[in-house]
Amino acid sequence: MEAAQVVNSNGNADGDYQYEIISWFDSVSKNAAMVQTETLGQILHLNYGVEYLKKWFGDMKIQDMDACALESLYASLVPLASHADFEPFIQRIADGDTAPILTQQTITTLSLSSGTTEGRQKLLPFTRHSSQTTLQIYRLAAAYRSRVYPIREGGRILEFIYSSKRLKTKGGLTAGTATTHYYASEEFNIKQEKTKSFTCSPQEVIFGGDYKQSTYCHLLLGLLFWDEVELIASTFAYSIVQAFASFEEQWEEICSDIKDGTLSSRITLPRMRKAVLDIISPNPCLASQIEAICRDSKASNWYGIVPRLWPNAKYVYSIMTGSMQPYLKKLRHYAVSLPLVSADYGSTEGWIGVNLDPCLPPEDVTFAVIPTFSYFEFIPLYKKKQDLTSSTVGYIEDEPVPLSQVKLGQEYELVLTTFTGLYRYRLGDVVEVAGFHNGTPKLNFIFRRELILTVNIDKNTENDLQLAVGRGSEVLSKYGGELVDFTSHAEVMHQPGHYMIYWEIKGEVEERVLGECCGVMDASFVDHGYVVSRRTNSIGPLELCIVETGTFNKVLDYFIGNGAALGQFKTPRCTNNHILLRILNLCTIKRFHSTAYN
Ligand code: AMP
Repeated sequence: MEAAQVVNSNGNADGDYQYEIISWFDSVSKNAAMVQTETLGQILHLNYGVEYLKKWFGDMKIQDMDACALESLYASLVPLASHADFEPFIQRIADGDTAPILTQQTITTLSLSSGTTEGRQKLLPFTRHSSQTTLQIYRLAAAYRSRVYPIREGGRILEFIYSSKRLKTKGGLTAGTATTHYYASEEFNIKQEKTKSFTCSPQEVIFGGDYKQSTYCHLLLGLLFWDEVELIASTFAYSIVQAFASFEEQWEEICSDIKDGTLSSRITLPRMRKAVLDIISPNPCLASQIEAICRDSKASNWYGIVPRLWPNAKYVYSIMTGSMQPYLKKLRHYAVSLPLVSADYGSTEGWIGVNLDPCLPPEDVTFAVIPTFSYFEFIPLYKKKQDLTSSTVGYIEDEPVPLSQVKLGQEYELVLTTFTGLYRYRLGDVVEVAGFHNGTPKLNFIFRRELILTVNIDKNTENDLQLAVGRGSEVLSKYGGELVDFTSHAEVMHQPGHYMIYWEIKGEVEERVLGECCGVMDASFVDHGYVVSRRTNSIGPLELCIVETGTFNKVLDYFIGNGAALGQFKTPRCTNNHILLRILNLCTIKRFHSTAYN
């Protein structure tokens, strides 16, 4: 059963449509094992004879093969692969080779993954199927959400969404982030029409190409339509936090624009200016109401500003899990009484799972795998004995299993075979099976598998870093400070190597407290290799670098300048990028060295 068939079949956001899409998902999830076998068959039949598959299948005639036999044959012949294995093929496509390399359908668009972990964006194929699955998962998730938090038809969404620059590759293909392609696709309009929920900002704002100007306009238009706004959303939670940090600075200017029906001179892009000026008109009464709320809220550090400005909003919707968890605290501060609904799980490579329990707090959210989207395999991961106390990458891997064989409580690395031409592609995400919806697993996102901090035998992932920083920031908040953002670097140029953690903080905190935060973080890395190396001083004391206010905005600007989109931006939690390190080191105003192992 293909996603697109269901998308196009009737429907608005009414009960009938919701019933239809939910019962579709019930049916495919009940038969998940069979649907997966069929999905793999479809992918392989559609792409029969492409160069990549020919390498492994030779001239074997797979068309007449039974679907189950094909599934076993596929796993035995086609090896597991990583992005590096696909890179030369994707590069040829980018350079204009139109031969059937990965797919029979010609690929005309490539997606750039956020790639903010190592500062290098990955190129991936993007097809119509990619937009269709985005629409499909959006509508499925919306149907589940509306059971708990119904929204008014014809209402608006204050969406902090941004397109990246769309580039042309050497071969003339369009390259941009997957979200950018989606906003430009027919499916994005279909979504608005069918769900009868409209984004506050016109295309000129979303596609403006300057995130600061777009954010200003998103906020301004969101306030103009204040009584129609049913929900506040973004792809990743970071964008909402970022938008409200700007609002704290710009609210007076926004109010003045609302009062006079003008547009700040900070909006310089002509198309954006015209589109917004066409919508706005003077509204002094609204401006003074907003001004009064802002003056009052400012005194309480903007606590609960979101429901005060948008009293009809039912919830805040965004990805809040994984690397977005550190922003939850700030989001809760702004949203207070409004429920935070964590959005679905996907990647530039393909969508994976949907949040079927919107009322759960983001910390407890799981994602039910959609068995028609891709063919999913799961590499079982077992912690090595010495690492039982830590969540590090010290894993032993077992043979991959299909979706039908996953076990409750087991951790796995995800492997995808997609309609866009990725075959047994290791995604690098670690997930845990937290339950089942009918026959399909509900996954808990654990972390990205790659190591980010390592000096010698120590192994720490983003999750380990997040845990350590979480402990340190608890101390900070106890003394009235607030962690705005953070990143890290494994310094190995000088012996002994050591971890450097960069913090941007808000509020006045004594140096003694920051020293304590530094020591707490050092002691919180429980990886056996790290602890042993610290005890023997083969890894030096952890260094906490406090950077000046606005440093992480400079980091963001650096990435945006290199083609990233704010909507898909994730602060790199560790970096070896020398330009980034130069920004961070130039902006460092205080340094502390841990005494935890003295
Ligand atoms: P990108 O590189 O921009 O395609 O980002 C995809 C990655 O973001 C995934 O592989 C995950 O590591 C992460 N991600 C996406 N959705 C979620 C989610 N709902 N929860 C946690 N992490 C997510």
